[in-house]
Amino acid sequence: GERLDFRTSKQRLLVVANRLPVSAVRHGEDSWQLEMSVGGLVTALLGVKEFDTRWIGWAGVNVPDEIGQKALAKALDEKRCIPVFLDEEVVHQYYNGYCNNILWPLFHYIGLPQEDRLATTRSFQSQFDAYKKANQLFADVVNEHYEEGDVVWCHDYHLMFLPKCLKERNSKMKVGWFLHTPFPSSEIHRMLPSRLELLRSVLAADLVGFHTYDYARHFVSACTRILGLEGTPEGVEDQGKLTRIAAFPVGIDSERFIKALELPEVQDHMKVLKQRFAGRKVMLGVDRLDMIKGIPQKILAFEKFLEENPNWRNKVVLLQIAVPTRTDVPEYQKLTSQVHEIVGRINGRFGSLTAVPIHHLDRSLDFHELCALYAVTDVALVTSLRDGMNLVSYEYVACQESKKGVLILSEFAGAAQSLGAGAILVNPWNVTEVASSIGYALNMPADEREKRHHHNFKHVISHTAQEWASTFVSELNVTIVEAQLRTRQ
Ligand code: ADP
Repeated sequence: GERLDFRTSKQRLLVVANRLPVSAVRHGEDSWQLEMSVGGLVTALLGVKEFDTRWIGWAGVNVPDEIGQKALAKALDEKRCIPVFLDEEVVHQYYNGYCNNILWPLFHYIGLPQEDRLATTRSFQSQFDAYKKANQLFADVVNEHYEEGDVVWCHDYHLMFLPKCLKERNSKMKVGWFLHTPFPSSEIHRMLPSRLELLRSVLAADLVGFHTYDYARHFVSACTRILGLEGTPEGVEDQGKLTRIAAFPVGIDSERFIKALELPEVQDHMKVLKQRFAGRKVMLGVDRLDMIKGIPQKILAFEKFLEENPNWRNKVVLLQIAVPTRTDVPEYQKLTSQVHEIVGRINGRFGSLTAVPIHHLDRSLDFHELCALYAVTDVALVTSLRDGMNLVSYEYVACQESKKGVLILSEFAGAAQSLGAGAILVNPWNVTEVASSIGYALNMPADEREKRHHHNFKHVISHTAQEWASTFVSELNVTIVEAQLRTRQ
């Protein structure tokens, strides 16, 4: 039938990610309450005004009935979101299993889980099958909503199988894929039983992006060494098809943080924190409670610092905010109790009747509290054992214009490539080195702090999330044009 076309002249961008940027709560058979979540990806893409953006992903809830699914899809439509429905078993095998228990630890150099190493290939295989099945379901939804001329941008390790599914059905579709985690050395990737299939699928995309040159280089090495393909300066070539591979380091919406510092509620939080910790230097850690964040290592380094510097014992405090995540995975439960035990021991050892050296919170903070913490603390300690980028380090720098605090940053975070000149870089495994860096940071003269901060601040405000997203998408558009030119020649 005839249809009024209100389409703007803007190009449509379909952003496909495991999770939609909303949380959905069901209130009745056909009624849903939605709340937009403000993650980095959401703010990055909201800032890209040149596209008409739609989101495709899982809403994070199990909706087994059709009435509920229809109602949710309708509610999401107003937020420009399109749901992919995954049943509980698929979520368990695909998301908890293959994504978070196999790909995540492997890409962060933790290795593969023990039980799978012992040839229980059935559980590995069934998780990989669920992964492919889930990716296929995402592809179905993309296909259903795709219109000619759209750009499709697939995100992260959850959707490595998606580029192939999409291109198989429509070779003309413009497909980009971006990885938010590290891509490990090809020697690590080789351990993955499904190493070939995943590489081949990603290569089906037109443009493949990573946070750093190192990750891009590792990916190219994996393709040349494991698949035997040819690497070129632009990417990887397979039977005449070139897949472009490049680094696109993400940033943050720095304006949002800088402006927030002026808000009365943030100022109030700052006042309270300053009073509470008056006379003491304050060090800050903000992480999801994940084994990649090196939280136990960080706390042990702080203990060593206190051990070796008795004069600092009542003059410095570490605030560690650790948001629990993936609480269904046993490793994460173990980590929580491990961290609690270390904190308890150190507070027992160095605390007094009126003060303890470590405040550890197992919860997330709201945006205003977080900004206040970033602004009033003297040192930020980011000691990830591996981290794709680490945006906490960027957020800290954005909030430190008046205080000019010191950033201690792991060399294994992607951010070390961009904030390395201003931060104190450390090897988080070397507790002695981290302990002495804490001392160096606490004693750093104002002019050195200022110089280091200025360097990083300039970088953070000039490499924003919006710019990251718009660069990736325009590269993707150019890539397609180039490919078309080549085939015409
Ligand atoms: P990851 O994506 O691995 O969690 P990043 O440092 O890149 O690591 O991003 C974490 C994001 O989550 C940041 O935007 C940060 O502000 C937010 N975040 C982390 N911990 C907390 C917390 N305890 N409370 C509120 N927000 C948090």
